[in-house]
Amino acid sequence: MTVDETWVPLRAELDRWQAAGRTARFWLRDDDAVEPTAPLDRLLDLTGKAGVPLTLAVIPASTGEALAARLASAPHVLVALHGWAHTNHAGDDEKKQELGAHRPPELVLGELRDGMGILQRLYSQQLVSMLVPPWNRINKALLPLLSALGLNALSVYGRARTDSPIALLNTHVDVMNWHGTRGGRPHAELVAELVRELQARFEDHAEPIGILTHHLVHDATAWDFLSGLLDQTHSHPAVVWTSAAELLSG
Ligand SMILES: [Zn+2]
Repeated sequence: MTVDETWVPLRAELDRWQAAGRTARFWLRDDDAVEPTAPLDRLLDLTGKAGVPLTLAVIPASTGEALAARLASAPHVLVALHGWAHTNHAGDDEKKQELGAHRPPELVLGELRDGMGILQRLYSQQLVSMLVPPWNRINKALLPLLSALGLNALSVYGRARTDSPIALLNTHVDVMNWHGTRGGRPHAELVAELVRELQARFEDHAEPIGILTHHLVHDATAWDFLSGLLDQTHSHPAVVWTSAAELLSG
């Protein structure tokens, strides 16, 4: 399958949106940043050139001035709180969680408060008041308590629950294959998933579509998908790549 054939289903669906006078909102979340690296430069360059806003989920316990200095010259980037130290506190037989019910809520909330303090000090201009839980999981009992920490939104994975006690800005398409190859997923599979997400929104125009990346572990397949996606969409009239701040304010 050639590159162009791979993207045909997405183009067709976007053309259908355009013909109907609709626009789809996309947003991009990339996780686990702590310091400047070559893959981060690549991500910033790719998104900056395409004019696509990026939200970086930053791990506060292990980040510092160096990343803040690098991001200061990347005005298309916003920073969100990625837990505290990205440490798993779940048992061996459970899915990984840092913010689960394994520890007292006041302890977990204290870490998040410290994390927000660090990011607020480093990112006075670029911080969005949103929590991205490590592994996209969090103890539900904590949700009503997040606003007291200055966190007004949560970003996890999958369609947003309508009964959430906090604003949700979720991701829906994860470019990585975490349980198999641990590399980028096949492009045709990702395109099919994107088309399904678009089709589900054609009538009700619900939540934006979030793309999830992890720059530190991308292989060539993952990078090629991301650059292909930006190529295909950044100037398509039916797509608006939108910043997390704008989506949360609207
Ligand atoms: Zn993470």
